[in-house]
Amino acid sequence: MTDEVLVLNAGSSSLKYRLLDGRSGVARASGTVERIGEDSGTLTHSVGGEDHTEERHVADFEDALRSALEAFERHGPAIEPKDLAAVGHRVVHGGDLFAEPVVVDDRLLATVEELVPLAPLHNPANLEGLRVAVRLFPEVPQVAVFDTAFHQTMPEHAYTYAVPLAWREQHRIRRYGFHGTSYAFVSRRAAELLDRPVEETNLVVLHLGNGASAAAVRGGRSVDTSMGLTPLEGLVMGTRSGDLDPAIHGHLHRELGWSLEEIDRALYRDSGLRGLSGVNDFRELTRRSEAGDEAAALAFDVYAYRVRKYVGAYYAALGELHAVVFTGGVGQHSAALRTAALTGLDRLGIVLDPVRNDAPATDGRLVSADGSAVAVLVVPTDEEWEIARQALAVVHGAD
Ligand code: ADP
Repeated sequence: MTDEVLVLNAGSSSLKYRLLDGRSGVARASGTVERIGEDSGTLTHSVGGEDHTEERHVADFEDALRSALEAFERHGPAIEPKDLAAVGHRVVHGGDLFAEPVVVDDRLLATVEELVPLAPLHNPANLEGLRVAVRLFPEVPQVAVFDTAFHQTMPEHAYTYAVPLAWREQHRIRRYGFHGTSYAFVSRRAAELLDRPVEETNLVVLHLGNGASAAAVRGGRSVDTSMGLTPLEGLVMGTRSGDLDPAIHGHLHRELGWSLEEIDRALYRDSGLRGLSGVNDFRELTRRSEAGDEAAALAFDVYAYRVRKYVGAYYAALGELHAVVFTGGVGQHSAALRTAALTGLDRLGIVLDPVRNDAPATDGRLVSADGSAVAVLVVPTDEEWEIARQALAVVHGAD
């Protein structure tokens, strides 16, 4: 029985792929097709430590996947459909309908389409990725893995917004949460590092990438998370505002005459770190802040303070906490952010070790002091491996 899985992550104008062993996580090749549908696109195929890049027009997702398959043929390893256990797909929004990964069939495609109003930016691209892969690999099981699935264990009091019943019942208005595959992977790995059974481990996990969110995880199950109906709520992000007063929409509309679409776009694309400082890349932001740029320094402080508030809130939600876990590009690499977010929390039992925290390691590790009652961990996430792992579990479980 093969364990090889092709993982596809179709974004609004990009397709990321990785061919890997779903059991060991070992990647055979990976790549990205960018600027799909634009005049000129880029395909980068990475294999054996080498990157092969070509510029070419990529008309649509079918063209993107065909180009990726050609790159596999040209640069290796050639993909034989019979050697694939599954194609694993990242799907952003599963609403409250999917708590587990599922094998793709016509009914599933129709359901993902029904959920488009909940994720107008993401689900249409994911859907197109699913349809194209079904066409190109008709004989291989296709498995959809939902970003929202991990959070389906949240209790009702955590996922319910205090809004009228009709909104909640007829329009699915509730908190769903995202980054679920990352949380599933990181929670398991954190428990391993702590040498505790995951079922007896309580964590606050901070996924800090371009998008950013926090989750309270009790015994391997999500009990709260900072993103809500959409991935706009919660922490400050690269270009998204995170939490704000919901009356701001109405205020801007009345003051400036802006449409809801214009306000949404500004909150998704022109806010967050970019809105505060002009730059959305955290590394560049840190450089500017250290060079004396006041707007960058404020952006850093607002970002770190929001993370700190969520740590406190989720500590209270859990009652007992074993570790705070940092992941995502910022969480894994910015010692300065971890310091700013956690310094002064000694009375809560959270004490960083400055030397461990500053060490330039890249693997999963402990960065708290030996006497810290609550551990602080850095755990690199691997969403592609988690998607492959879950896809394998579905197809092997069904054998
Ligand atoms: P995505 O959410 O797209 O997967 P990542 O998890 O790769 O993104 O996170 C990207 C963010 O991580 C960027 O803001 C980037 O600047 C930041 N980052 C990467 N490396 C570092 C570093 N060494 N120090 C600070 N920030 C970093």
